[in-house]
Formats: sequence, C-alpha cells, structure tokens
Amino acid sequence: MANRAIKYRIYPTTEQSILFAKTFGCCRKVWNLMLSDKIEGYKVTSKFPAVTPAKYKKECPFLKEVDSLALANVQMNLQTAFSNRFNKKRKVKAGFPKFKSCKHSHKSFTTNCQYPKPSNKLKRPTIRLDDDGLILPKAGKVKAVVHRIPEDNWHIKSVTVSRESDGKFYASVLFEYENAVNTYAPDFDNAIGLDYASDGLYVDSNGNKGSDHKYYRESQRKLAKAQKVLSRRKGSKKNSAKSMNYLKQLRKVNKIHRHISNQRLDNLHKLSAKIANSHDIVCVEDLNMRSMSNKGFGNGKATLDNGYGMFLDFLSYKLHDRGKLLVKVDRWFPSSQICSCCGIRHSEMKDLAVRKMVCKCGLSIGRDHNAAINIKMEGLRILKSAA
Ligand SMILES: [Zn+2]
Repeated sequence: MANRAIKYRIYPTTEQSILFAKTFGCCRKVWNLMLSDKIEGYKVTSKFPAVTPAKYKKECPFLKEVDSLALANVQMNLQTAFSNRFNKKRKVKAGFPKFKSCKHSHKSFTTNCQYPKPSNKLKRPTIRLDDDGLILPKAGKVKAVVHRIPEDNWHIKSVTVSRESDGKFYASVLFEYENAVNTYAPDFDNAIGLDYASDGLYVDSNGNKGSDHKYYRESQRKLAKAQKVLSRRKGSKKNSAKSMNYLKQLRKVNKIHRHISNQRLDNLHKLSAKIANSHDIVCVEDLNMRSMSNKGFGNGKATLDNGYGMFLDFLSYKLHDRGKLLVKVDRWFPSSQICSCCGIRHSEMKDLAVRKMVCKCGLSIGRDHNAAINIKMEGLRILKSAA
C-alpha cells in the first residue's frame, strides 16, 4: 500500500469555521488534560497511566460537539510523543511532550475516514471528496478548490484540517492505494546527473542551471518593510498587550511568509516534474542536508532557501510514479574533484572557492557542471553493477 497526500484550499462557512476553531481548541484542551493526568499519575505510581479522551466528556460537555475521531487522534499523537521520548531503541530521544498554548499552538486536527463494514451501520464513507467540496464528519460539505482529482483506486485514509498563520483554511487529504506494478523500462541512455548548487538549486550534467529564483530574497525587502512597520506597532514588545493594529500588521507579515513558501513549493514541484517527465534515470548526490544548512557551512540561508532536500523528495516520488529511477550517489564520492573527461583527481578542487576546473587533458569546465557529469557516471555505474 502506498500513501499520497493532497492539500486542498477549503472555504468553510462562518458556522463551519466556528466548528473548526472549536475542534482545534478541544484537541488542544484534551492534549493538555491527558498530559497533565499522565504527569500527575506518574507522581503517585511512578508510571504514566493510560488516558483516553472519553473520560473528560463528562466534565467538559463541549467535547461532545466536535468530531470524536479528532480527539482520538490527539490521544494517539500523545502516545507517539511519549514513545519518542522513552523508546529505548531510539538513538536520539525526543523531548518530553509539552503543554500546548492557546497562542502558539498550530491550529489543526486530523480525522479518519470510516468505511461501511458489516460491523457498523454506515452506508457510505464518512469523508468524501466531490468536484467542489469535501464532506467531513460533523461539518458537512465544505467548499473546496479541488485542483487535483484522485485516481479511481485511491481511498481517503484521513484528513487534516488546518488554519495557517495567514488565516486561510486547508485540508490535507491522505489517500491510500494499492501499488500498481509499473512495467515501464527505464532507458539507460536517457540519464541525467544533478549537482546541488546553492545558487539556482542544481546544475545538471548538460550544464543547465535549475532556477535562478530567489523568492526569499526577492520578497525579503517587502517582508523587511512589513516587519519594520510591525515593530513600531503597539504591542510588539514582549509581554506587552497586543494592539489591534499590531495584530493587523502581523497578519500582513504572515501573509508574505505564506506567499514566499507557496512560491517556493510551486517552483520545486515544477522543476522536479520537468526532470521526471524528460528523463528516465536521475542521479543525485545523497547530501546530508542538516550539515549543509548549518551556519558553519557559510551558506545556510541559500541552502534553506532552495529546499534541495524537499526537491529530492518530490523528484523521488515523481520518478517512482512513472516507473523511473532515482539513483543516490554516496555523498563522500569526490564528484567535484575528478575530471569528468580523463578521470584525474584534482585536489585543489577541495577548496569551494575554486569555481572552475582546468585540466591538463584540455578540459575547462564549471565546478558544478563537472560534478554533475561525475554524479551521472557514478550513478550509472552503480545501476549497472546492481543489475
Ligand atoms: Zn582531464
């Protein structure tokens, strides 16, 4: 079974958005109640007791108004948070679960789709998608822009409704489907290598650059301006009461942030789709993005700006869908040091500042272009040796 999520913009009515706001609040409330009961229970028995949302419905009758599956998911999330903290098999342990604050918590809830079964009286699935809306438990039909229609064999597993910082509502629908056996045979001659480039996302083995868009920087001036205005509004200081004008301006700032991130995602999807459509085999370097984006590397902003890791994720599933291949080359493979023409190793290329490789064999080539060719050759070598 495979999963795929599609995020739809939804337009709830006033009534529906009140219900969603209530559900966000109830999820937070239940999380905090359960967490506090676990902590209190531990003080008495030295063990974290099992807790369920059902026991709070008596003292908090408003919990009955919202989707009970959303609350059940909170219970599961809390359980996961505890096992992430205390599971002995995990090398890096997560922190202890925190209480969710009203102001800073992410506004979202997740509800599962239930299907008709002999054991229940359902006539049809509890969550359904049609061409202009999403039918959700308790809320009914919510208007949505269904920009993408799922395949016939995709079944809705769950939906996460969220309200983003700019005030817009979204529903991320998780689909589940049977993995079809893809019989497409990738053509080894239609291969391409990509080398990460902080400027332009990547350089491919044909010497083409990915994209020159620097959305973050382009919009940064706009953002800086809006933030400056925000800092002058009453309530910008810590612990001071937020004025109406402050909140208004904050919404503007958030809107710019959202806009930038949308542009970036759009760009990554377009670029990855273009490559996946036109090539059968794509060879990339398996980068450790964490170390790349840290400040010591010197280009933290550019790395984060590009979202190369996200790009590789998109590329991976898009190629997989088409029966094509993504080959990851070991990140210690000295792709930028080897001359792609004669194979001689140039240790002077270790210096990132050297942007051009000039070889005795007559080759004079851009650093990233050369690396991309090497990555392609190495990727094909790995593929052939595995076959
Ligand atoms: Zn050479």
